[in-house]
Amino acid sequence: MGGGVARGNGEVVRLPRGASLADFADRINANPGSLVQVVFTELGEMVTATQSCTDETLQLLGAQLGYDVQIVTPEEEDAELLTRFDLSFGGDYGDEAELTPRPPVVTIMGHVDHGKTRLLDAIRSTDVVKGEAGGITQHIGAYQVHHPVEGGVREITFIDTPGHEAFTAMRARGAKVTDIAVLVVAADDGVKPQTIEALNHAQAADVPIVVAVNKVDKEGADPAKVRGQLTEYGLVAEEYGGTTMFVDVSAKAGTGLEDLLDAILLTADAALELFADASVDAQGVAIEARLDKGRGPVATVLVQRGTLRVGDSIVAGDAFGRVRAMLNERGENVEAAGPAQPVQVLGFTSVPGAGDNFLVVGEDRMARQIAEQRQARERNAALAQTRGRPTLESLFERLKDGEKTQLNLILKGDVSGSVEAVEDALLKIDVGEEVSLRIIGRGVGAITENDINLAKASEAVILGFNVRPEGNARELAEREHVDIRYYSVIYAAIEDIEAALKGMLKPIYEEAQLGTAEVREVFRSSKFGNIAGCLVRSGTIVRNSSARLVRDGVVVAENLKIESLQRFKDAATEVREGFECGIGLGSYNDIKADDVIETFEMREVPRK
Ligand code: GDP
Repeated sequence: MGGGVARGNGEVVRLPRGASLADFADRINANPGSLVQVVFTELGEMVTATQSCTDETLQLLGAQLGYDVQIVTPEEEDAELLTRFDLSFGGDYGDEAELTPRPPVVTIMGHVDHGKTRLLDAIRSTDVVKGEAGGITQHIGAYQVHHPVEGGVREITFIDTPGHEAFTAMRARGAKVTDIAVLVVAADDGVKPQTIEALNHAQAADVPIVVAVNKVDKEGADPAKVRGQLTEYGLVAEEYGGTTMFVDVSAKAGTGLEDLLDAILLTADAALELFADASVDAQGVAIEARLDKGRGPVATVLVQRGTLRVGDSIVAGDAFGRVRAMLNERGENVEAAGPAQPVQVLGFTSVPGAGDNFLVVGEDRMARQIAEQRQARERNAALAQTRGRPTLESLFERLKDGEKTQLNLILKGDVSGSVEAVEDALLKIDVGEEVSLRIIGRGVGAITENDINLAKASEAVILGFNVRPEGNARELAEREHVDIRYYSVIYAAIEDIEAALKGMLKPIYEEAQLGTAEVREVFRSSKFGNIAGCLVRSGTIVRNSSARLVRDGVVVAENLKIESLQRFKDAATEVREGFECGIGLGSYNDIKADDVIETFEMREVPRK
């Protein structure tokens, strides 16, 4: 035991997620080769010294060797990383004395076709502040409206991507963006499955809800019914003694919009304390990002605290840069953006992910270092994920009967929003237990050699959304036989993957008859055994196909094979209906005149 490695005495060894045996060996002053040996003999796993290991492998190995292995999660690592630079993310809202009220951030959710998009458009056009371009013209992922109230004008920020999918995808990345959810319910259609889903997502995130009962202009609209239906889900209208504000609106006619904005502000004031310190360095979330042909990476960020300024050094996820320019939703240049203000930022060197937290740091060098360390960590984590746990047993089992099959995917797209949407949809495909799907990489921008290498290393397929391979990547993919598929619509990709997954399921076979032959005469050959002189009655007799022998309507022999097939003296590969032929069934010799030879093949049946 131990393979010549000095045993520990329960010492703590802290390893980042995805560390290799070489990393481990380094910490305990051991030879990486001997750790490879221990992992093989004690855990039955084959890993090279530099491969990333799973948490479990590292911990089991630690236990074997007498060390207490603690895996440092990416979040902990990140926090440690920031502390090293004397920074931190989140926590309090800044200096208590400096807190000033900030606008609420709103996401619109609800069932498909209930009018979310139209409502966002209608609200956009209510904005009283008109810029040079005359109102909100740019889609940057979020916009602010200025709403006149008693004693002044207040702002409300709307996330411009409706639906709970994006909301939840961002939340899954640890970003809390939304303060209030507006649940849109069409008054002519009532509460529908996605209404409930949206409601659940909002409630799970502890986000207060304002209900917009839409399409009240339509015949058959029944706003009271919607109120009744939603009480069952704990949303009781104020007029019924509850605490939820319901507002009747028509996105089409533009009615009720002012009331809706009032309701949002009232709900924010009642349920939330929205304050932020605008005086500090900015922090927030990237809500949308893409690669622009002319301008390079473009990211819309929502400032959550502090003030973002042109010239700031900034890190978002593993992307960094210096703010070269900022644009608002009216396409105007802005010099500074405060809490709850969305701005499009130019100047990143790569594209951040939607939902990545951003923060401003003291200098460019620091931004680069943080980004690079995060990139390295992401790479390790991705590699660790791809490794699964190929034990000798599971490897053998898989090879033996193809029982467990996994499809690895790498997603690349032109906008981070679409990459996340695809990921979300893919993970929802129900394919049963036999097959699993794993997304081992994702990103915005062209397909790079790095992607191809990752795909090759983990036998993954690459999906590209409106992106193509760059430089030598295409060549590399061809050389390494990496499968890249290109799509412009998400739906087509989901369909393809679903079909692929179904193809990877163990196929179902069904017998398809090829032909029958009636035995006329049996010839004995010392060299070939018995040869049946036949007339092909139906279909085609194909050499090497499966066969059975039928006598008086009863199957007398199964699992036979057309071993030889002749037309006169010549070997034939197939003989069609109405022709005579000689058939040899290999070592099976019990053939009589009037027997029927049935031939068939097993065909795969497509899954429903
Ligand atoms: P989404 O899927 O929730 O984003 O729904 P859309 O905003 O795309 O709206 C679906 C359909 O309902 C579109 O044809 C809209 O024009 C229509 N619509 C939306 N709001 C109203 C409304 O207030 N009144 C009427 N009559 N139609 C509406």
